[in-house]
Amino acid sequence: MTHPFLDLAPLSAAHFASIEDRVARLLSTEQDVVIMQGEALLPLEGAIRGTAGPGTTALNVITGPYGQTFGDWLRDCGATVYDLAVPFHTAVKAAQIRAALAEHPEIDFVSLVHAEAATGNTNPVAEIGEAVREHGALFYLDAVASVGAEPVLPDAWGVDLCVIGAQKAMGGPAGVSAVSVSERAWARMAANPNAPRRSYLSLLDWKERWVDAGRTALPHAPAQLEMLALEACLARIETEGPATVMARHASAAAATRAGVLALGGGLEPYVYEASEAAPVATTLRAPAGVDASELVARALAAEPGLPLAAGGGVLAKEMIRVNHYGSAASLAVVGRCLTALGAALAA
Ligand SMILES: *Cc1c(COP(=O)(O)O)cnc(C)c1O
Repeated sequence: MTHPFLDLAPLSAAHFASIEDRVARLLSTEQDVVIMQGEALLPLEGAIRGTAGPGTTALNVITGPYGQTFGDWLRDCGATVYDLAVPFHTAVKAAQIRAALAEHPEIDFVSLVHAEAATGNTNPVAEIGEAVREHGALFYLDAVASVGAEPVLPDAWGVDLCVIGAQKAMGGPAGVSAVSVSERAWARMAANPNAPRRSYLSLLDWKERWVDAGRTALPHAPAQLEMLALEACLARIETEGPATVMARHASAAAATRAGVLALGGGLEPYVYEASEAAPVATTLRAPAGVDASELVARALAAEPGLPLAAGGGVLAKEMIRVNHYGSAASLAVVGRCLTALGAALAA
């Protein structure tokens, strides 16, 4: 008997390239799309190490935990880093980016997270992109949590490095991820003596051995299962229609906010402004005197499997995450989450 996971035919170069082309279509991009064989942290780190070095001056926007990580990598590369941190209950404004760029005209790299599932905010990338493009800096965007939940348009927004993963609103598994790379970003990497080469982190290796070689021979055996899962996940989005998938996430987020206000009991949306709240996941603030992780544990004990989590790290006591993404982006799931939270609060 053949096993569906184990007895797989090799994944051909043409098949691999066709999955990259589908990712490019999802992002409406003409840029090169490289699918990397690992969780999203692989291209996120590879893109920073490829483009940043001691000559780099970076504006690193922190709207959640990932921004913090990017700053650490940038400093590790020897870059001069200006952090622009905003409170996690809000989004960064394009005017703040413009002010930072005006204050430090030498900035030539801007790193930003589009939406943060961990804090529940989403940033106005189109407007920010305009400011970054006018300034001429390279624009790096983590769109792992936004892709599938809201538009992600690297070409229209002037994003030079746009990283996505399948494990959030795309409704797929973690394990493969992709990055779209502009000509400017490739040029920056080619000129960077510190860019990883002959390394798993290297985007330049993929350019030389795969993209520029006409995508006819894969540099190493791809992660077949994950590639097939990514393909299935893209097919499912194409069938439902990307606009419908995004509308489902937006409705789930709106319903969570509205439902929490109706529920009362002191639970509140963590992100104050609905326009700054991410469609991918809604974060809530626990009522005074209530421990968020205990509340979530009680709700999950009553109904296991709901997409509820407490905030990470220091946010564990005050933040509840309703992870209504992928197949959980539905009013039914949101209703069950709120019912379980309401019952846990009452108890
Ligand atoms: C989820 C997420 C990632 C991927 O990281 P995992 O925690 O390993 O899933 C990267 N960036 C952002 C903004 C995310 O929300």
